[in-house]
Amino acid sequence: MPRLEDEAPGTPNVIVSDRSMAENLTGNWRNLRPIIDPARCTGCLICWKFCPEACVELTQKVPLIHMEYCKGCGVCVEECPPACIEFQPEDAS
Ligand code: SF4
Ligand code: SF4
Repeated sequence: MPRLEDEAPGTPNVIVSDRSMAENLTGNWRNLRPIIDPARCTGCLICWKFCPEACVELTQKVPLIHMEYCKGCGVCVEECPPACIEFQPEDAS
């Protein structure tokens, strides 16, 4: 794999994928599934702002999590101010 033009000397040689993010279905990494309690969601947008996969969509007051890209990292669960996102084991559904 060729090195990038602006890579500093000594940088470890890494493989840069040419696949698009849309193809990178990180949802299959997940063991735990975040579930939003719509009755307690305030629509504050924190989960949308902090999700490292950008898989939280704001089409309505209660966000929609795209599970094909949610890797179950738990950032939204930790950051949700009213704590209305809970993890559920994948095999429980
Ligand atoms: S668990 Fe992680 S990847 Fe999934 S919606 Fe929450 S912050 Fe995003
Ligand atoms: S962080 Fe929690 S309260 Fe805020 S929009 Fe997301 S689910 Fe709703």
